[in-house]
Amino acid sequence: MISDILQEIKEELPEGTRLVAVSKYHPVSALQEAYDAGQRIFGESHVQEMQMKREQLPQEDIEWHFIGHLQTNKVKYIAPYVSLIHAVDTPKLLAEISRQGVRQGRRIPCLLELHVAQEETKYGFSTEECESYLASGAWQALNGAEIRGVMCMASNVDDERQIAQEFETAHQFFLHLRDTYFAHQPAFRECSWGMSHDYQIALRHGSTLIRVGSKIFGERVY
Ligand SMILES: *Cc1c(COP(=O)(O)O)cnc(C)c1O
Repeated sequence: MISDILQEIKEELPEGTRLVAVSKYHPVSALQEAYDAGQRIFGESHVQEMQMKREQLPQEDIEWHFIGHLQTNKVKYIAPYVSLIHAVDTPKLLAEISRQGVRQGRRIPCLLELHVAQEETKYGFSTEECESYLASGAWQALNGAEIRGVMCMASNVDDERQIAQEFETAHQFFLHLRDTYFAHQPAFRECSWGMSHDYQIALRHGSTLIRVGSKIFGERVY
């Protein structure tokens, strides 16, 4: 039962940590079941799918988090309502989010995606890239976007020590960024890491937002 699993996960969460129920590829009925069990934060990774689900579920109190790779030309569709964009991976994307935020009269909350995993991927800032971007100060002029923290994915391996090490690297880097660039911005507080197979490790390494999908909703049918 979705409600039992949600309850089980929530009991594991320390104070200040929240669960993003990753509902991509699952039908609206599954989200409704989670909603009825009290879940209010949903994570999706496709713009059209998120739009469609949003239209069919209660509008007042659901937080929609966009967790996937976001193309700049699609920001405008989610800008009016998205609660948090987790995987901002280029300065260009952040600038476009800000532009759309200004158009909507809001500051859109964002996380910078860090690439800490071993695997080659196209996405995410290395810690060096992230540091030099923040040091440039260019982001301070982006009035329609607010950087709330960082996000990462660990390598897809069984070695728990390696996963722990990657989360710890991200957490230490988060603390460094917070103290260096965001000391006067308490909203910079989010660390988004931990999925179905590694969220328990993530909780021991600074996570404030876990993104759990298949453990709640079952395997995805693509
Ligand atoms: C799909 C997805 C998740 C959830 O993965 P599960 O293994 O199903 O928990 C978390 N984060 C991101 C970025 C995803 O794309």
